[in-house]
Amino acid sequence: MDKHLSDILFHLGENRENYFHAVSPPIIQTSNFAFKDIHHFRKSFESEYDSHIYSRGNNPTVKILREKLAALEKAEDALIFSSGSAAVANAVIANINAGEHIVCVESPYSWTKILLNNFLSRFGVSHTYVDGGNIQAIKDAIQENTKVLYLESPNSLMFGIQDLSACAKLAKEHGIVTIIDNSYSSPLYQNPIEHGIDLVVHSGTKYLNGHSDVVLGVVCGSRKMMEKIFYSEYMTLGAILSPHEAALVIRGLRTLEIRVHRSNESAFKIAHYLENHSKVKSVLHPLLPSFPQYDLAKSQMKGAGGLFSIHLDVDTIEKVEAFVHALKYFTMAVSWGGHESLALPAAGFYRIKGREDSPVPFTLIRFYIGLEDPECLIEDLDQALKVL
Ligand SMILES: *Cc1c(COP(=O)(O)O)cnc(C)c1O
Repeated sequence: MDKHLSDILFHLGENRENYFHAVSPPIIQTSNFAFKDIHHFRKSFESEYDSHIYSRGNNPTVKILREKLAALEKAEDALIFSSGSAAVANAVIANINAGEHIVCVESPYSWTKILLNNFLSRFGVSHTYVDGGNIQAIKDAIQENTKVLYLESPNSLMFGIQDLSACAKLAKEHGIVTIIDNSYSSPLYQNPIEHGIDLVVHSGTKYLNGHSDVVLGVVCGSRKMMEKIFYSEYMTLGAILSPHEAALVIRGLRTLEIRVHRSNESAFKIAHYLENHSKVKSVLHPLLPSFPQYDLAKSQMKGAGGLFSIHLDVDTIEKVEAFVHALKYFTMAVSWGGHESLALPAAGFYRIKGREDSPVPFTLIRFYIGLEDPECLIEDLDQALKVL
């Protein structure tokens, strides 16, 4: 039986008898661990994965976080990284060799795209981007040397969705490893491993920590796959989280359930309000019936969280600028998943010196709904839309 969510968030991994029955786990601020004797020394090196030798490998505070995040994703194990991007890179690199090929959903997270386009291409790894909503397109993109199918469902800007069970089944038939970036849904609203996906990656910077003060990532999967990553990419690239930050994230997790549900409910309220506003052309939210992939979203997601986008009904960038400058409660910033509501205008990716304009229409604004009173946020949007 699955562990109860409260048990995971409040108790799992916390062996309090090891530390004076302290309610909050100690920050084991150490780089290395002493051996009792030479027999213990040798025993530890039989499996660094399960021993305490050095904090680049195993740290007890980080281990508590590992156990909780693995359980949240219904995975056997997890590894924690110093950023979501490090988690993505480690998961992909561990499963690909020179001369092999990756099938990836089109327009993944920006640094994931750069990993494939600029980084892995230097090492002879090729890739094909596909419309992830079209299982036939994925099938057609598979080559003899395809080893990884990389998914992001929903995507964090336009919210494109893939049929997770169908993707997992197709990949298994071809001996392909499936990896999904599940940051959008959080482990509360979607557990890809239950659909047969091999590796689940999160930017823990978003909901898992949830307070906009730590950057981290996690990869969840079978013990076998985690152990493989541990002894190659994890230990060599060394993109680890410090015990101090792990303790902050354990604290953040205490309120994961109430934070994500609050964002989810407020985002629905605000998305409904915007959908009925004359200055808003459309709202992109995977769990609104107007969303093109609504039925698929509903079949595999239990909720949506706080992230959605709108298209303003405007014809110039200046009008978008006037709108975002009129907002008082929404902070203009990248990232999401913290306490604070955010607005990210695509127009910000236009007219950047030395860069091509974004292919995303300038009318698009991505909102993240945080933990404020949703009525306050609606009032703010209402007064800002009046400037148009
Ligand atoms: C933020 C983000 C990442 C990258 O994570 P970092 O923690 O910023 O390195 C990857 N994928 C998605 C969907 C994200 O939103």
